[in-house]
Amino acid sequence: MNDIQSTSFLKSVDLCFDRAAEAMELPKGLAQQIRTCNAICEMKFGVELRGGYKIFTGWRATHSEHALPAKGGIRFAPFSDQLEVEALAALMTYKCAIVNVPYAGSKGALKIDPKKYSLEELEHITRRFAQELDKRGFLGPGLNVPAPDMGTGQRTMSWIADEYQKLHPSDINAQGCVTGKPVHFGGVEGRVEATGRGVQYGLQEFFRNADDVAEAGLSGGLEGKRIIVQGLGNVGYHAAKFLQEEDGVLVVGIIERDGAIFSESGLDVQKVNQYKKNNGKVEDFPKSQFFKQGYKMLEFPCDVLIPAAMEGVITNQNAKNLKCKVLAEAANGPVTYEADRILNEKGIFVIPDAYLNAGGVTVSYFEWLKNLSHVGFGRMDRRFAEAQNQRVIELIEKALGKKVDQDAKNKLLEGPSEINLIRSGLEDTMRVSYNEIKEQHHSNAKITDRRTAAYALAIKKIADIYESMYL
Ligand code: GLU
Repeated sequence: MNDIQSTSFLKSVDLCFDRAAEAMELPKGLAQQIRTCNAICEMKFGVELRGGYKIFTGWRATHSEHALPAKGGIRFAPFSDQLEVEALAALMTYKCAIVNVPYAGSKGALKIDPKKYSLEELEHITRRFAQELDKRGFLGPGLNVPAPDMGTGQRTMSWIADEYQKLHPSDINAQGCVTGKPVHFGGVEGRVEATGRGVQYGLQEFFRNADDVAEAGLSGGLEGKRIIVQGLGNVGYHAAKFLQEEDGVLVVGIIERDGAIFSESGLDVQKVNQYKKNNGKVEDFPKSQFFKQGYKMLEFPCDVLIPAAMEGVITNQNAKNLKCKVLAEAANGPVTYEADRILNEKGIFVIPDAYLNAGGVTVSYFEWLKNLSHVGFGRMDRRFAEAQNQRVIELIEKALGKKVDQDAKNKLLEGPSEINLIRSGLEDTMRVSYNEIKEQHHSNAKITDRRTAAYALAIKKIADIYESMYL
């Protein structure tokens, strides 16, 4: 029996939390207060469907309320249950604290296989779920703000936002009741790519830290590093694509639902993604080797392994066989607690989920700010900045007595657009937090790995808030 069957995801998250809390000095009972899930609601609601009624079950957990709103995705998945939602909500609390996003954690799920329903049916079901969430105080721009997760996306968020707006027509901030909306419906540029982009920025920062790179048994930068990615969903696809196109990594392996493909000379991520869309599988992708038992590829040698699919894919059964140097956790909870201990013993450098996949919620925060301010990023200052840059260029040209090269000029002229500002804010977030975790690691001799350091950082930040609240 592997440990995912005996130790639930929630237990794994709690054990990681306890390990970090034990390494810290906290007032009695405070760790328990931070760890405890404040509220969880199970909702059962009927929907008129296909000439009858069908009952659906959904959950929303508010893990903490040390800051408001509480924030986190909603997943639509047939395997979801209450414990999974609680685990994911707890991770959201720690994630937000780690990346300095002023939210508490929340998470929701609807037990459904979205592939089995038409678009109209999904809309109907989602709107009913939104009504239930609203009725029970689990929806609102200042209270609880869902976002996309597995099985949900921009369209789902639009339906929820629209339903909320109908229920609260005078709430001027209603659009901020969910994030991950399409840009034309109150969303922000760069939200779709955000989690994958955050993984890229996190890995770039790792490779800027030569001591960490050496600790992992590697040298140099990202260029030419051999990468295996599990899951070409929104997160895995964007992370692998950006790393390949902009950092020159070699994506040697891609693990998907139907199996895994491998190519020593590298797979073109965009082409694989297109092939998967057209054929519903990765098998027979040109010039690649196919492995029916895809999960076995998690054990293939590589520099960086990026699990970007499900929780609990690295357990006490396969952890000992892993041959990557760095494990970059793009999914939520891909490694069980037991497996984590094995990876630490093996010396695999783990960049933990609660940090590495926080790009999504970080850009959600920017979207929410845009909704509350009712103005897009860059709208007020873009042309002003361009005019200022133009003056600087003119001065330089006058001083030099010659024209600045047109290419350089165009780059210098560019004022901040929304996408540039979003990426800049995200990059800064990922760089700052990486180093905060590292500092936490090095400043406490009882902390021996980056996951524990990340949890300790989150606990410290939340504990500081609680201690100020109860002065
Ligand atoms: N579902 C994403 C996550 O697990 C995004 C959450 C959000 O943007 O609120 O981090």
